[in-house]
Order: sequence, then structure tokens, then C-alpha cells
Amino acid sequence: MPINNERRAFLKASLAAVSTAIVAGVPQPRAASAALENELCTLLDISKCIGCEACVDGCRDVNGFKYPKFEGDMPTMFPQSRVKIADWSSKEKREIRSRLTPYNWLYIQTAKGTHNGKSFHLYIPRRCMHCRNAPCVNLCPFGASFKQPNGIVRIHDRICMGGAKCKAACPWHIPERQSGVGSYLNLLPNFAGNGVMYKCDRCYDRIAAGELPACIEVCPENVQTIGPRREIIAKAQQWVDKNDGYIYGADENGGTNTIYLSPVPFDVLNSAIATGLGQPHLKAVDDAMADANMLAGALIAAPVAGVIGAVLRLKQLSRSE
Ligand code: SF4
Ligand code: SF4
Ligand code: SF4
Repeated sequence: MPINNERRAFLKASLAAVSTAIVAGVPQPRAASAALENELCTLLDISKCIGCEACVDGCRDVNGFKYPKFEGDMPTMFPQSRVKIADWSSKEKREIRSRLTPYNWLYIQTAKGTHNGKSFHLYIPRRCMHCRNAPCVNLCPFGASFKQPNGIVRIHDRICMGGAKCKAACPWHIPERQSGVGSYLNLLPNFAGNGVMYKCDRCYDRIAAGELPACIEVCPENVQTIGPRREIIAKAQQWVDKNDGYIYGADENGGTNTIYLSPVPFDVLNSAIATGLGQPHLKAVDDAMADANMLAGALIAAPVAGVIGAVLRLKQLSRSE
């Protein structure tokens, strides 16, 4: 069968990706560069947020077509004790808005308390932080988690096997799994990761079309702004100086492309919010990729991810022909 242009281009790109992964072997050094400073970054001034959840609705309206399409096929996993099913597909579970799920990529945390003798009642929109040197990308064994050149961190739903390495590696445990969907059903339905991981993709498709992410566009209080990281950090610093406030995300996990501003210290906020499964904390976070074990994991994952990712992409392509 003659090879078509699309397939030829794909093969070339895949082989290039594989050779790069094998030759490089490790993620790129995290030294600051002009490209990193120009990555897209969001600034969230939580003193403005009124907790109306318009952003949550906007995210659901715009991104609903990307949510898991579960069709009721849930293979029994082996061993059952090790590989847990995660099923959010029922009508009630899809409606959950009090935490992150595969069907809810953004939710609002509430923080109430007192600080320096003054009471506070704040709302904090939470979702993926889009880390600059994301451990979810560096440690995904299938190359399904990836970072766009503009800094957006995404998970490819046709390559992800749902093994949840990204969730384990993420300091905030952001990605959420839906079992019974994805490539594992065609490859190793009883042994693979058992689903696909989902999280905020920063409305990459809207950004590519020159539009704002939905949560930013619909917010009635202009809580969020988006721009090159260098500019966002400068704005954040001005706000902190003017308001005697606090920043989260400038240094967390080596720096993220999501920056929060607050009139109350983040360790105080962390004690005031509900945290747990699907409800990320606001603790100070060291750079995960500076940890020797994480680096070793990335060393192993990088070439394997390149090869497996290329094979899975080829399978997808041949299926679509
Ligand atoms: S960020 Fe904006 S839209 Fe979202 S809850 Fe706060 S005020 Fe409402
Ligand atoms: S917050 Fe977690 S899921 Fe999001 S980019 Fe960082 S490591 Fe990945
Ligand atoms: S950037 Fe897009 S995907 Fe992410 S929380 Fe906002 S609306 Fe949802």
C-alpha cells in the first residue's frame, strides 16, 4: 500500500521524536530562558473572586466535548487489588463541582478565618498550575503528557493509558482518571493503566484561535489575566508591593504558569481550605524535578515514552485511515 503524505509526515515526526528522546535521555535543564519567560501565564487575584462559579460553568460549556466518552465497557483489571477502577460517569458524579474530576476541571475553594486580627472570606479557583518544568510531563511513561511551546501542559487522550503516573508525580495530584475509556481498551484491557487522565488544558484550542480561555472570558470580576510570564510576574510583584500581599506559584515546583495573589498568606489559606482527594493544597512546594528520585524516573521514562508514544500514535493513525 503506498504511504500517504500524512503518514509519511507523521513517521518522520515520530522518528525524530524517538531519536531526540533516546539521544537526550533526560528532560531539558530547567535554567530560565527567554522562551520560558515568554510562556503563557495566568494571574489570579483572589481578593476579587466572589465565588459565583461562572468560570466553572464556562469551563464545562466549552470543554464538555473533550470529557470522557464512557460507553459502559469496564474490563476487570488484574490484579484487582492494585489497579483501582475510577468511574465518574454516572449522572450524579458528572455534576460534582466541589472537587476536580475528569468531568470538572476547575472548582472553587473557600477559605474563611482570621489573620492579624482581621477576618477573611476568600474564594480560590483551582485547576492545573501548568508548571514550567512539569513532573507529570517528565515522568509519563507513554509520552501522553506533554508541554506545548507556549507553556500549556496537556494530556493526549488517545495516547494516555490511565496509569496515573502524572497524578502521583504532580505535587498537587491534579489529573483525574476515568476508567473504561482510551487506548488501553484496544491494547491491554485487563493489564494496562485502565483509563485516561483528565485535567485543565488551558483551553489550548481557544488560545490557538486567538480567544481567551473560557474561565477568563466569563468572569464578571476580571479575576484572571493572561500574558507572557515575564509581564505577569512583574504585575504580580507590583500588586504585592501595593497591597502588602502574597504570591503563590512564582517559585512553587520550580515556578508555575499560574500565579495567585492573596491578601492573606498562603500557609494561612492552606489551613483554612478543605484539602484531600481532588482538592489540592496551597502549601509551599519545592521543585519536584530537583529531587534525585524524580530525575532518575525521568531518565528512565524519557526514551521509553518516546518509543511507546510513537507506536501508539502510529496505531491511532492506521486506525483512522
Ligand atoms: S473567578 Fe470569576 S467567575 Fe470564577 S468564581 Fe471567581 S468571580 Fe466567579
Ligand atoms: S500542576 Fe500537576 S498536572 Fe498540572 S502541570 Fe503541574 S505537575 Fe502537571
Ligand atoms: S483554562 Fe479552560 S480548561 Fe482550564 S479551567 Fe479555564 S476554562 Fe477550564
